[in-house]
Amino acid sequence: MNITGIKGMNDILPGEIATWQFLEQEAHRIFQTYGFTEIRVPVVEKTELFCRSIGETTDIVEKEMYTFSDKSGNSLTLRPEGTAPVMRSFIQQKLHAQDPVSKLYYMGPMFRYERPQKGRYRQFHQIGVEALGVDDPKIDAQILAMLCDYFNSVGIDDVELHINSLGCKECRPAYRQALIDYLQDRLGELCSDCQRRSQTNPLRVLDCKVPACQDATVTAPSMLEHLCGDCDDHFKQVKDYLQGLGIDYTVNARMVRGLDYYSKTTFEMVTGSLGSQNAVAAGGRYDGLIADLGGPALPGIGFAMGVERLVLMKSADQLAEQRLPLFLAAMGQQASDRAFLLMATLQRQGLRVEMEYSSKSLKAQMRRAGKFGARFVLILGEEELARQMVVLRDMDAGTQQELSLVGLEERLLELLNETEPEPVAG
Ligand code: ATP
Ligand code: MG
Repeated sequence: MNITGIKGMNDILPGEIATWQFLEQEAHRIFQTYGFTEIRVPVVEKTELFCRSIGETTDIVEKEMYTFSDKSGNSLTLRPEGTAPVMRSFIQQKLHAQDPVSKLYYMGPMFRYERPQKGRYRQFHQIGVEALGVDDPKIDAQILAMLCDYFNSVGIDDVELHINSLGCKECRPAYRQALIDYLQDRLGELCSDCQRRSQTNPLRVLDCKVPACQDATVTAPSMLEHLCGDCDDHFKQVKDYLQGLGIDYTVNARMVRGLDYYSKTTFEMVTGSLGSQNAVAAGGRYDGLIADLGGPALPGIGFAMGVERLVLMKSADQLAEQRLPLFLAAMGQQASDRAFLLMATLQRQGLRVEMEYSSKSLKAQMRRAGKFGARFVLILGEEELARQMVVLRDMDAGTQQELSLVGLEERLLELLNETEPEPVAG
């Protein structure tokens, strides 16, 4: 029997974990600097939460959800995104009663039944933020600044920030109708998905990836020309604040988002380096969502980044692995037991140490030390131990010295703290 994992659901292996941990740690650090706090919500929710928030006619709800019945017959869904569960929690736990402004972030796996390909998986990971309770366009600009700050600090620069406004429930209906009328005259040129969408979700036609649909909509009316006074003013202020903060952006009037709950500001971080999986992060304002889900009428804005896509962009310049400071090579049972104790003592002092667990020749142990890129190797030989001595080999200098067993731990810690750990070359 050979049981394999599920198609589109990947293992994250030790060789790539440094990149993942780095991307996560930078998110913790930067988001906390901007006053955001982590929230952790379950990976499973009632199906209706996603239908109500994301929208019945979206790709996610129509065809991408992992939905199943539990043993009591409740319809449950593996979360396809993070905003709906966070809003559910925010409302249920009455977080707004503790503070009128909530700035939250989350990270973890999401699930969508999509066709797996590079940058698109069935279990994938998002890091996302939500700022709730602020209407002012300052928060839109701040969130975008934080997003740019994140990309800078993780060293991904092959990205562009695209922004747009999707209007609100005052101005979008008229635009939607104008778009439906426009598409009506060009139905024959659209793909079968878009022929259907042109009635149910016409805005989505604008970001269809089929070239014929893109050609057919080149002259489509733009939301930006239909914004009401309030939305127009909000968008202007966002752009002014971005300019004030020195943040480069492109206004992309064709950018719509695949989820129904967005209003006003929407944005994407796009890259040219991932083929059609070109959005690395995406988000926007969702002023009606909390009330739609039965909560107070509070505005919100957030984004989510796809971690797999960040990792793909980062892997070109892999994070340098840290060299092992010290490897213990022991010859014989007694020496090996002594090395084992020494390793434990040094590890308790916070030093990274490795040894060979089973008995191997010195040559084999030196090979293993080489594999770790060890800076120093401490050789515990029977003959030296009998004299209460050990040999410390400096792997870079190719020199070695004898050290006394008396006060060995202190001497080693001293020596190793003097030597800066450097990354493995190459
Ligand atoms: P796309 O247009 O690529 O399908 P989306 O609009 O469905 O993206 P969102 O729902 O806005 O994506 O999710 C935010 C981010 O999560 C995306 O920008 C992307 O980086 C990532 N993402 C979305 N779906 C997947 C997936 N199936 N596999 C890997 N990452 C994904
Ligand atoms: Mg999608």
